[in-house]
Amino acid sequence: MSISSLELEPLVAIDRLTKRYPAAAAFGKPKAWVNAVNGVSFDIRSGETLGLVGESGCGKSTTGQLLARLLEPTSGSIRFRGRELTTLRGREIRELRKHVQLIFQDPYASLNPRHTIGPILEEPLRVHRIGSRAERRQQARDMLETVGLDRSYADRYPHELSGGQRQRIGIARALMLRPSFVVADEPVSALDVSVQSQILNLLKELQRRFALTTLFVSHDLNVVQYMSDRVAVMYLGTVVELAPAETLFRGAVHPYTRALLSAIPSVGTGERRERIVLRGEVPSPLHPPAGCPFHTRCPQAVAECASVPPDWKPVGPDHYARCLLI
Ligand code: SF4
Repeated sequence: MSISSLELEPLVAIDRLTKRYPAAAAFGKPKAWVNAVNGVSFDIRSGETLGLVGESGCGKSTTGQLLARLLEPTSGSIRFRGRELTTLRGREIRELRKHVQLIFQDPYASLNPRHTIGPILEEPLRVHRIGSRAERRQQARDMLETVGLDRSYADRYPHELSGGQRQRIGIARALMLRPSFVVADEPVSALDVSVQSQILNLLKELQRRFALTTLFVSHDLNVVQYMSDRVAVMYLGTVVELAPAETLFRGAVHPYTRALLSAIPSVGTGERRERIVLRGEVPSPLHPPAGCPFHTRCPQAVAECASVPPDWKPVGPDHYARCLLI
């Protein structure tokens, strides 16, 4: 079942999106492949925040980078406002940047240390030949105020800013072209806990103000619950459960989602959950298990799980999961 087919007009719809990397080569030819993203399908509705959550290495950040067209997909479809993005090249991808932007986990790594903040914020406008020099300068300073910084920060260098201030700059730069869709990739995981809530509240306010649609990528369930309208849970390159945030945190059905939630006592209703300890490690994406990819760790696995890949099944209103027991 295609999840994207159930919605009439999603802003973003991905279908069987796959990204494989060559892992080892013999005689110049790959002899093994890593399936970082393996046939992922979902949609993102206009104006919503879709949380994408999972353990490190599950493919969530790769999925975000594919949607922003920072990575080339191996196969599958990404449609944005009905337009196929996987076939875009060169100049068309640059044009897409006006509509689709990415907020990075570590903005410092992407801020040119030799430039002050003003020119850094003006650069996207200059690249796209938007406005005069004076207008670009004005817009950069206006945007500083929008993200809660004084206009005088335009004359500072990135190394003069704190982590939270740098992330505000990262957000400001992503918004300079007034995109309609933003991929926020672990935007607070590098920040002190005391600063995280300020940045999350800023993101929420900006989402409302700029009518943003957001893919919010994070390993932190508390953060995802706070930010998301719906949540997709990834395991080993595939989405295993997708539901409205409230539904997922109150009534997850997939054994993997339930295990993740059981490790976070403060998530959900505040009721005590029985801790579900998963056995073993996440399998290598070089050699993903046959059948259900979770069967090597699943506490509820039955014999069939080792050979039959589960398909999407509707669980309730707007709620889907991929498990043979459903
Ligand atoms: Fe567990 Fe089997 Fe369901 Fe996979 S299909 S989640 S292994 S019960």
